[in-house]
Amino acid sequence: MAAPSEGDAASLLPDLPGGPLQAYRARASFCWKELALFLEGEDMLRLKKSIFSALEDDPLFARSRGHELSLEKHRELTFLRCKRVLGRALLRVEDMVRNPLSVLTLITCLGTYDWSLAQKFLLHLLVFGFAIYKSGSERHLEYLPKILSMEIFGCFAVTEVSHGSNAKAIRTTAHYDPATEEFILHSPDFEAAKFWVGNMGKTATHAVVFAQLYTPGGRCHGLHSFLVQIRNPKTLLPMPGVMVGDIGKKLGLNGIDNGFAMFHKVRIPRRALLNQTGDVTPEGTYVTPFKAELGREIHALVSGSKPLASWTAQRGIQECREACGGHGYLAVNRLGDLRNENDPNCTYEGDNNVLLQQTSGYLLGLLELRLQGGARLESPLGTVDFLEAYPDILDQRFSCPSVAGCLESSVPLAAYEWLVCYLLRESVQKVNQEKRSGSSDFEARNNSQVYRCRSLALAFLELTVVRRFHEYVHQPGVPPPLRATLQRLSALYALWSLNQHTALLYRGGYFSDEQAGKMIENTILNLCAQGSPWRFAGVARHTDFVSQQLKDDAVALVDVIAPPDFILDSPIGRADGELYKNLWTAVLQESKVLERASWWAEFPASKTHVESLKSRL
Ligand SMILES: Cc1cc2nc3c(=O)[nH]c(=O)nc-3n(C[C@H](O)[C@H](O)[C@H](O)COP(=O)(O)OP(=O)(O)OC[C@H]3O[C@@H](n4cnc5c(N)ncnc54)[C@H](O)[C@@H]3O)c2cc1C
Repeated sequence: MAAPSEGDAASLLPDLPGGPLQAYRARASFCWKELALFLEGEDMLRLKKSIFSALEDDPLFARSRGHELSLEKHRELTFLRCKRVLGRALLRVEDMVRNPLSVLTLITCLGTYDWSLAQKFLLHLLVFGFAIYKSGSERHLEYLPKILSMEIFGCFAVTEVSHGSNAKAIRTTAHYDPATEEFILHSPDFEAAKFWVGNMGKTATHAVVFAQLYTPGGRCHGLHSFLVQIRNPKTLLPMPGVMVGDIGKKLGLNGIDNGFAMFHKVRIPRRALLNQTGDVTPEGTYVTPFKAELGREIHALVSGSKPLASWTAQRGIQECREACGGHGYLAVNRLGDLRNENDPNCTYEGDNNVLLQQTSGYLLGLLELRLQGGARLESPLGTVDFLEAYPDILDQRFSCPSVAGCLESSVPLAAYEWLVCYLLRESVQKVNQEKRSGSSDFEARNNSQVYRCRSLALAFLELTVVRRFHEYVHQPGVPPPLRATLQRLSALYALWSLNQHTALLYRGGYFSDEQAGKMIENTILNLCAQGSPWRFAGVARHTDFVSQQLKDDAVALVDVIAPPDFILDSPIGRADGELYKNLWTAVLQESKVLERASWWAEFPASKTHVESLKSRL
């Protein structure tokens, strides 16, 4: 296997330790360093290495295995670590602007170390900071250096006790008073309290608060965001009229202080309105420069991507937990941390099921426009262009002569296009049927989610991912030694995803006999199998492609994406593969593991002791 040839890139990826995994690594059909370099690029690998090393070398980031941190301590530590990350400028602002992917790399690295830290950093710098930068105007730029130096610390407050997904119904109000050129921020009751807000519990001094904007005369202009000081940055005591606190322990991510806040007629200056999309003149007139609908396609894709990614991660983590048997359930191995810390991804930044409605709504809207006015079905990124052939696609049927033929990406792509068209037709029919039977538009959409619009949104996203994956691995720039493995991965993802929809493919008539379903399943099994050159003997075209299957590449593929041992901090996941030795060492390191239980000494089987225990229960 050839080592990466580019400069000193190899030095960024040190050789992995020998051990029981050596034999499996030797089976790989490609060089893991070369793939890492191709996927990430030298700059990103360098950035990753510098972040991981900075964390490993700093005592503030020392792992505290065996010690259960108190809630208070966990939050303090996460805050201090966030401050240290910002203080050390692991990524310069210019670099973030020059290459936005570097931000993703930074967040991913911090998250691999500890998702609470990544979230704290993300909420302060990117969610709070970016909201001010993007939704504000020149008058808000003065805050940016203070955010970078953590002179002020931020949070992003949309959700209320009784309004999460239904953000339109948020009840916090901001009434404009032209006499003093101020807004009066008010929470009418506890159901309108801001709730769940990350960083708000203990540490935030400022919040971007979403409230209904009213101008004199009582006209409501809908939800707007305001920059509000909620605590004194020196004392961390609440500002007058603000009741702010911590909502307590969660299932995971406990390094983050999620909080609540109520505002009692709090006066904030007019300039606190983040006025990118709408402003209020000193006299109290509402003005907006914002007219038409840009980025609808991106919005539809993003709204579907988050659910697909977070659910896939949820399933993947659970699969890994079970694959590791009992050891996967031992806290020290940290699969539980991964599971608990990914879990709220399905809820925050928009509940997954609710987000999917945005994606299906986009597709239904496009079709409606097409049917009404004959406008072509197309979009700037081209993700929906295939729908122009909607009626023809619905007439197509599965056609693939052999298992080997299923490896051609045209097979799953054609099946997915049919599936999206089928679900689109089913969804439209269901919505229309609901309307005909007297449902309001809102009810009709709600009653069409399960089995129709929700599945439509997911299938559309999967198709988009399958197509992008295919294009990526077939681009001319892929180094020849990596092509076969990447193409096998692309084929596996496509077929594995498609296989979840077998029932629909049969129900709608795309699959007609049992061979179709079996062919997909057999191709998946073959892709996952160990290499055997004669498996597809006689199918000359595919011989190279299938001669070595993914099982042989599995360990090397993990090496490509695995963080260093210190960051992963899982005895059974260490790169040396000495899982039992590492597990044994870790268990023995736990304090008090060999000690007799402290309560045993005072547990003579005496009647009085048992009686006293009983009385305490
Ligand atoms: C760890 C964590 C951190 C968070 N951080 C922040 C933060 O920093 N700032 C902030 O503002 N918020 C934050 N949130 C809140 C988060 O954004 C909301 O929890 C989320 O938007 C869902 O709202 P909800 O909790 O009110 O649930 P609901 O909206 O009440 O949803 C409950 C259930 O009802 C279903 N449902 C709701 N509406 C519909 C519908 N129209 N059709 C069909 N089904 C529906 C949902 O699918 C879900 O299953 C955080 C939440 C968590 C868990």
